[in-house]
Amino acid sequence: NRNDVVNFAAGPSTLPTVVLEKAAQGLLNYNGLGMGVAEISHRSKEFKAVSEKTVSDFKTLMDVPDTHEVLLMQGGGMGAFSTVVLNLLAAWKLQNPESNAKTTLDYIVTGSWSNKAAGEAKRLTQGTDVSVNVALDARNHSQDGKSFSNIPPANEWKYSENPAFVYYCDNETVNGVEFDKSFPYDSLPPNTNLVADVSSNILSRKIDVSKHAVVYGGAQKNAGIAGLTLVIVRKDLLVDTDAAFNLGGIPQVPHLCDYKRHADNESMYNTPPMFAIYVSGLTFEHILNHGGVDEYSKRSDRKSSKLYQVIDNSNGLYKPKVSPESRSRMNVVFTLPDEETEKRYLNEADKLGLKNLKGHRSVGGIRASLYNGITEEDADKLIEMMKSFK
Ligand code: PMP
Repeated sequence: NRNDVVNFAAGPSTLPTVVLEKAAQGLLNYNGLGMGVAEISHRSKEFKAVSEKTVSDFKTLMDVPDTHEVLLMQGGGMGAFSTVVLNLLAAWKLQNPESNAKTTLDYIVTGSWSNKAAGEAKRLTQGTDVSVNVALDARNHSQDGKSFSNIPPANEWKYSENPAFVYYCDNETVNGVEFDKSFPYDSLPPNTNLVADVSSNILSRKIDVSKHAVVYGGAQKNAGIAGLTLVIVRKDLLVDTDAAFNLGGIPQVPHLCDYKRHADNESMYNTPPMFAIYVSGLTFEHILNHGGVDEYSKRSDRKSSKLYQVIDNSNGLYKPKVSPESRSRMNVVFTLPDEETEKRYLNEADKLGLKNLKGHRSVGGIRASLYNGITEEDADKLIEMMKSFK
């Protein structure tokens, strides 16, 4: 039974039961049509209404200014690693059409996802006039020199002269590292296009969209189920990518990766992930009806600070992996003294229905993910268990 379990998975992760009940109903019989929401034409007036409401509620929640467009895309967070590079380079090329124009892409690497994103940017720009500059590799600033455990201040980063964009990941899901309040916007060179991956902390605190060229996230944590990627793009970056390619020096853009094509077709250039859009729409409605992002932000602060307190007051039984100012409110990571104790911890938790607490396979340890779908009561169950386990 769902009620007997608290699912602390890092994503895909817990959604509110009422959202899933509505989704299940809509999958069978949407709005009394006798047909499910994923069985009708994506161009039908019924589905268009779903899609439009989803986008408009998302804009409300994220406070998206008129300067920016919302796109409903596929390919997940990793798809966006590629599409961001391709589209922003096309925009850069149109502004710098000279045949000898060169540029760099700056990556702020604070964990394994931004590291992967930088790797993809390198791969896509091989053999072009573009190079990738890792402006920060936070591992070099850690105590052991190899783990992602803090974000050093921006005056220690090395931006390049005039980058086509600066990229960061607001919350690193695997490493449990999050920017404290927000990215340090003041550190940026003037007029820099800033790109944010918010896959794992979207809708858990306010983010100033106007400071960004692109903000994107896979839906499957705070915003719905896998299959939908939410992309917010500044409108001047919706460009003719074929014209840009013809100027030379940058990669060609597949049509399905082309922001402008999606924007021009109201995110229906091809068949969109209809059920995933529907579930995100229901999730947005739920968040709006429960106080919006401000309320979820407060809840996230409370849930995570209570849990970190137990960790910090455990006389070393629970060892935090991340320095206090960079600790994630979404993914709380820590270790136990040895493998045996860790197993016992996971067993105890499991007996109480506290599930999916094992850390990512690349880093081990424990990871408790406290996304929007985890209530304060849910978090308290874990906290109580950890106190009594100690
Ligand atoms: N970025 C972040 C911060 C993530 O947490 C993830 C997935 N957990 C990704 C990117 C990759 O997303 P996807 O699996 O949707 O491609």
